Amino acid sequence: SDMTLHIPFDNSYAALPDSFYARVAPTPVRAPELIAFNTDLAKTLGIDGAEDPALASVFAGNTLPDGATPIAQLYAGHQFGQYNPQLGDGRAVLLGETIGTDGIRRDIQLKGSGQTPFSRMGDGRAWLGPVLREYVVSEAMHALGVPTTRALAAVRTGETVVREAPLPGAVLTRVAQSHLRVGTFQVFAARGDIDGLKTLFDYAVDRHAPDATDPASFLDTVMRKQAALVAQWLSLGFIHGVMNTDNCSISGETIDYGPCAFMDSYHPETVYSSIDRFGRYGYAAQADIIVWNMAQLATALLNLMPDPEAAVEPFTAQIHGMPEMIRAEWLKQFGAKIGLSAPTQDDARLIVDLLAAMQEVEADFTNTFRGLIDGSARDHFPDPTLYDAWSDRWQARLEAEEDPHAVIRAANPVLIPRNHRIEEMIAAAVDGDDTLFHRLVAAYAKPYDDTQSNIDLRNPPAPNEVVQATFC
Ligand code: AMP
Ligand code: MG
Ligand code: MG
Repeated sequence: SDMTLHIPFDNSYAALPDSFYARVAPTPVRAPELIAFNTDLAKTLGIDGAEDPALASVFAGNTLPDGATPIAQLYAGHQFGQYNPQLGDGRAVLLGETIGTDGIRRDIQLKGSGQTPFSRMGDGRAWLGPVLREYVVSEAMHALGVPTTRALAAVRTGETVVREAPLPGAVLTRVAQSHLRVGTFQVFAARGDIDGLKTLFDYAVDRHAPDATDPASFLDTVMRKQAALVAQWLSLGFIHGVMNTDNCSISGETIDYGPCAFMDSYHPETVYSSIDRFGRYGYAAQADIIVWNMAQLATALLNLMPDPEAAVEPFTAQIHGMPEMIRAEWLKQFGAKIGLSAPTQDDARLIVDLLAAMQEVEADFTNTFRGLIDGSARDHFPDPTLYDAWSDRWQARLEAEEDPHAVIRAANPVLIPRNHRIEEMIAAAVDGDDTLFHRLVAAYAKPYDDTQSNIDLRNPPAPNEVVQATFC
């Protein structure tokens, strides 16, 4: 077996000016123990031939692979609406980038790898629960077809992390098309470092918006990606939980799985996150918050304009166009959920009426939509007259569709990572049993496949299994 791990690094961020990051190596841990290594993703990244214990050592941060240039990235951000001028990777280290077999440049980052100059009061560590949640949920999101960061590896550290209680420590290896955030732009703008902002802009254009010719077209590219992303979240009942501007990616990927959750029964105001006391980042609010976040990006980008004052009006107009972008993406996503291959504005009523009926009876979001194929959607309504009235209109509309069941099947998963299964998985792993973790990873890799025998993973929580709040 190969005792060294070869990663074909091609690092570009570490070549940017010193003001963009701090050079800092991961802090070694006591007893690395590999929990999972994502071999499919590794192949895409151009990594192969690796075996334990080299994997455990590298992805715990104990061995630095050849070609790594470890850094912690600088950023700032609005947290729950309040600007925090100094964030940065407080517990993460970017090892470097690879250009994958698909030609895409991706970051390889350790999360939970020890303190950095941006740690503030934090210990630089992560505990096992959030590491496994991020592994399972981010890989599920990928399989669901949602742009997202990926999970390459998870490792136990053999050390204890103190949160509310002593907990087992772990390190996640996160892969992203980049870790550029809205907050990365904000930090340079807020410091008045316009040269830095220009350098960042050129770098981001190169990496994420090669067709953009100026700040306005760059903003448009990011807005379109984010509009499509948030519409996909809504269509799957996904609630990010912490849509701070530092957790809002320029690449348009879902990033930073903290107190995220999938909704079981449908209600637009659903909130799980224990830290979201006012519902700022609740299910339906996400469509408004992403516009607010893009306004923060626009505000930073203004500083690149020859006459920032004069650019306020056109940038504002551009931001005001985003709700319509989101509505169009929402219509496309939710139209597909009820079998419409090319939904029009006239179809919005039909979708909204189904959601309103579902809300009234607290129907399970995932299973009701998927149940439109075999008629079991009706079973979610204690008094089916509500559903039947809607279904008559729906059937009439479906006459214009060629193969609505295929459309429904592709838009509605059988499986989502349900909160009670995630919590169950974490509790077992804390007790040293990773069986459920591996089972969930395997099952969620095929979320649209209804031939797997896993009814226990498809069912909504029993009353005593309902997860009231998620923590990070
Ligand atoms: P998050 O809410 O996960 O997006 O984290 C917000 C900021 O806090 C980021 O800059 C993190 O790097 C930092 N952070 C979170 N947890 C820790 C920790 N245990 N130690 C150091 N920094 C942390
Ligand atoms: Mg974050
Ligand atoms: Mg986080």
